[in-house]
Amino acid sequence: MDSGDAVDRLVSGLLAGKTPSLARLISWAENRDRRTERVLGRVFSRTGSAYRVGITGPPGAGKSTLIGRLALRLRDRGDKVAVVAVDPTSPFSGGALLGDRYRMTELSEDPGVFVRSMASRGSMGGLASATEDALDLLDVAGYTYILVETVGVGQVELDVAQMADTVVVVLVPESGDGIQAMKAGLMEIGDIFVVNKADREGAARLKGDLLSVLELAEPRRGWRPPVLETSAVRGDGIEELAGSLDRHRAHLEESGTLDRRRRDTLRLRVLGETREELVRRLEEGSGDLLETLLDKVEERNLSPHEAARRLANGALPRAGEDTPPSTPGESGE
Ligand code: GDP
Repeated sequence: MDSGDAVDRLVSGLLAGKTPSLARLISWAENRDRRTERVLGRVFSRTGSAYRVGITGPPGAGKSTLIGRLALRLRDRGDKVAVVAVDPTSPFSGGALLGDRYRMTELSEDPGVFVRSMASRGSMGGLASATEDALDLLDVAGYTYILVETVGVGQVELDVAQMADTVVVVLVPESGDGIQAMKAGLMEIGDIFVVNKADREGAARLKGDLLSVLELAEPRRGWRPPVLETSAVRGDGIEELAGSLDRHRAHLEESGTLDRRRRDTLRLRVLGETREELVRRLEEGSGDLLETLLDKVEERNLSPHEAARRLANGALPRAGEDTPPSTPGESGE
């Protein structure tokens, strides 16, 4: 396949809002296909208008159900909605897993809502970068509201939350959930808290607990996170959730925080891409140096830290540093 042609064809399809082109390009991003760089080089100037909402919380909290309801609500009021489910625990993507998760909601068959899952396909670090790229592609394809769901409460979830404009944390009245949230650092990242399954016992108590924790915290950039109660299965509280999203967005826009927040996200993203690029260069460009250094480390003649420094110096001499082309024959100390 002539990959230049493939890039041209898919970019044209993307700009014309064609779903198969979009899906294909998201797969490239997910596989960390290097052609993604060329694609984004062509279309990145068209990004920046989609609003991104991260939705996180423990498995089983009802996120998929809630997102199904919310997506349809947003679509009904005229938004073009995409749902991206990020699952660091699964090697499967594209359809299998998501088909199951969203089967109960009519979402996967709704032509007005694009649904896609992203799985890890290898390195964890790559998943957050792949998701960023996917969000840009959706933005270019004209989606105005992107709901990004993460399945758990680990590092990838926190990374994904960081790329959202608004973060919604979903908890349930089941025992210990509030405490789990605090341990997992969710209290710090939530802009809106949702107590789902409010049709069950204990919702009011959890809401009270969350409010008292939030009271103690300084409002972040002038925003005090609200705590809402929803019952996703019944469809209760969805309107209020959409309203809170609007209010948070308006707050970010009016206070200039949105631009600052997005700049912070871009900073992390550029640094993340730099890290990937550097590691790739080191792997490609270091020749036998890595193996030679490893021999020394294995013999315990060189510490891993010193080996890393020499590897980095060998491939990328630091300006002003006196770098003899690493002589791994010497011992570290
Ligand atoms: P996720 O893992 O956070 O995406 O959770 P799901 O959306 O898959 O929901 C997990 C289970 O909780 C499913 O059986 C849902 O039907 C159920 N569920 C979701 N929302 C509610 C709710 O508001 N009330 C009750 N009682 N059950 C719910």
